[in-house]
Amino acid sequence: MIQTMQQISTIAEMRVHIKEARRQGKTIGIVPTMGFLHEGHLSLVKAAREKCDLVVMSIFVNPLQFGPNEDFDRYPRDLERDRELARSAGVDLLFTPEVSEMYPKPMLTNVSVSTVTEQLCGKSRPGHFDGVATVVTKLFQIVQPDYAFFGQKDAQQVAVVTQMAFDLSMPVEIVPCPIVREADGLALSSRNVYLSAEEREQALVLSRSLKHAEKWLAEGVALDEVRGRIIQMISEMPLAQIDYVELLTYPDLSPVSARTPGQSIIVALAVRFGKTRLIDNLITTI
Ligand code: AMP
Repeated sequence: MIQTMQQISTIAEMRVHIKEARRQGKTIGIVPTMGFLHEGHLSLVKAAREKCDLVVMSIFVNPLQFGPNEDFDRYPRDLERDRELARSAGVDLLFTPEVSEMYPKPMLTNVSVSTVTEQLCGKSRPGHFDGVATVVTKLFQIVQPDYAFFGQKDAQQVAVVTQMAFDLSMPVEIVPCPIVREADGLALSSRNVYLSAEEREQALVLSRSLKHAEKWLAEGVALDEVRGRIIQMISEMPLAQIDYVELLTYPDLSPVSARTPGQSIIVALAVRFGKTRLIDNLITTI
């Protein structure tokens, strides 16, 4: 069967489709993305396809979530290729608004989540999660999804969006989906295309150190010691510049020093290779 997918670039047109889907009693799922699709994004579509009658994917490189010295302008884009991948993965509606459609006037409204945005990427990228929370709120208002699918690759984003949806009584269930990796362990990311061959090789230290961390945690190694060993492993890579290596509770992202049995924790890494900042994480119970 040839899958039909419609591409929509205005809010008004999207509302017409959503209204009709609602009238037909369809459950609606959204997969928000910034495009340059890979198997990580497509795994979210698969999860959405299994749970929802209507699957909406948004592709929008959201300027609000990029800092002034970040890669908004050079963020990779390939809409033609994305359209084909989205269609084959089973997306029904592909929402591709221009910046001028989403933000026709300067935004005077900002959605800001506290506490869970104060560490990790929130600390390294001031304002980033305000941009995320604001655009996700806007997408939820436009698409009115029953379910929204997010990857654990961006585990702090999952924590932020879940907290936001709960606090604001948004009628949507946030569905976290597992990290998809290359065969050699590198977590898929649109930003991986920036990496030189040598950087990519050294970037494998992220997933490798997380694998070791999992083992050390299971063996009962102290949390500070685990952190120290990860930093040591990453520092052995000449091209790696550590942004952070942190062990925190998950999803509330509070400090952990001692072990509390049954506690869910995240081991979160952000490391720069040249101009490219990569993140990866492991969520486990100690
Ligand atoms: P992005 O386009 O990078 O903003 O990502 C859009 C969505 O895809 C987010 O929910 C990400 O967490 C998710 N995602 C990105 N990379 C992966 C991955 N390797 N595995 C699972 N989900 C991912």
